[in-house]
Amino acid sequence: MKDTIVALITPTGRSGIGVIRLSGADSLSIVRKLTGDERFTPKPRFAHLKKIYDLETGEITDETIITYFKAPNSFTGEDVFEIACHGSPVILRQIIDFCLQRDARMAEAGEFSLRALGNGRMNLSQAEAIRDLIDAQTAASARQSIRQLRGEFSNELQPLKDDLLNIIIVLESALEFVEDDLPDFQTENIKTKLAEIAGSVGKMASTFQAGKLLREGLKVALVGRPNVGKSSLFNALLGHERAIVTEIAGTTRDQIHEKLVIENIPVSLIDTAGLRETTDTVESIGVERSKRAMADADLVVVLLDGSQNLTDEDREIFESTDELNRIVAINKIDLNINDEIKSQIPNQTSQIFKVSAKTGEGLDELEKAMVKPFHPQDIENAGFLVADARHHDLLLRAESEIRNSIVTLDQRMSEEIVLIGLHNALRYLGQITGETTTEDMLTRIFSTFCIGK
Ligand code: GDP
Repeated sequence: MKDTIVALITPTGRSGIGVIRLSGADSLSIVRKLTGDERFTPKPRFAHLKKIYDLETGEITDETIITYFKAPNSFTGEDVFEIACHGSPVILRQIIDFCLQRDARMAEAGEFSLRALGNGRMNLSQAEAIRDLIDAQTAASARQSIRQLRGEFSNELQPLKDDLLNIIIVLESALEFVEDDLPDFQTENIKTKLAEIAGSVGKMASTFQAGKLLREGLKVALVGRPNVGKSSLFNALLGHERAIVTEIAGTTRDQIHEKLVIENIPVSLIDTAGLRETTDTVESIGVERSKRAMADADLVVVLLDGSQNLTDEDREIFESTDELNRIVAINKIDLNINDEIKSQIPNQTSQIFKVSAKTGEGLDELEKAMVKPFHPQDIENAGFLVADARHHDLLLRAESEIRNSIVTLDQRMSEEIVLIGLHNALRYLGQITGETTTEDMLTRIFSTFCIGK
């Protein structure tokens, strides 16, 4: 029998309510002990107001609302209790400790979802969809995860897997029962069908570029010499979008790294001035970091001061960004603009925009230009998009195996050889939804989940 596991399923920190989840066969007996009510017989899916006691002192620890989800009708498919406590980290810690002292064990990252998978409550791509939904940075990305969670991806894959399996059955019975080769017309049929399947798989894989963009977004670096207005533009763009402006937790570079959303695409904006300023005592490290940020970016915006002539430092920046995906913004157009500057810009291949960080003029056009090469309009009208690198990789592998099998059929190789490729393809497709995923793989995938998921 599996251990009963426990974890906080709401964020850590102070809040109105914090919810602790227990899952496993012992969860009822643990809850009975917590509540000091050995005859507690909760009605599934009903809220029960119950006190929780410190067993050692007998004192009330908290007054909670307990909801019971009876196996198999729960998230994990096991007996589950969700205990809504007051959201004090101290109380939550204590109640989790009480559970641990009564033989529950701390849930590992993704373990609730892993159990849900094991008990057939969802397939692997649906469990991954929950992870992605929680991590989604934009409404559009969340919508895609919901589609995956509702089984859209698995439903699109299923007929392809069925078709592949049918072909495998035909070839296998040919291998077993037919003395001669398959008749030509049948081989041709199989080839046509395989080409169709490979085409559909390839089409799904091709949505990855857009899916990844929607999920992970773009990194855009603002570069320019001191005082051209990088920080001003950075703030103006953030204020302009007024979208989610979240700090990236856990970095020491919060001020220079912000998120905004432009046309449904999450954009991570990096102010390289900030990179230099935070390390001005170790200037070389700052410069090194700026360079890395630029090299890492999907797009670099080179900012110039439109009220001045181009300087050597500006030219150096052009040189160092020559190989990168770049656009140019001439700032401070609210001042007397220096008409010469456009002609002074080396390498005129970059698009040039005129903006004022101060008045906001030209920001709309600049923002649109930042995301335009990445085709946000296609994303809005697209159907389901593959957004996970693991899924993309498996689709590509499956497609390649099927196409190779067509070649081996063409070469009239034995069915055995053809079948190896087709079995591989079926296994790869099965790994997306988890039917053919090994324990090792599952452990690796679920380690990308948080504790409590
Ligand atoms: P950074 O060193 O490149 O980050 O530049 P800052 O953003 O700190 O700006 C340098 C100076 O230029 C500040 O005094 C800003 O107020 C001013 N500045 C920035 N953008 C504009 C603009 O569009 N118009 C005007 N008139 N001044 C600006």
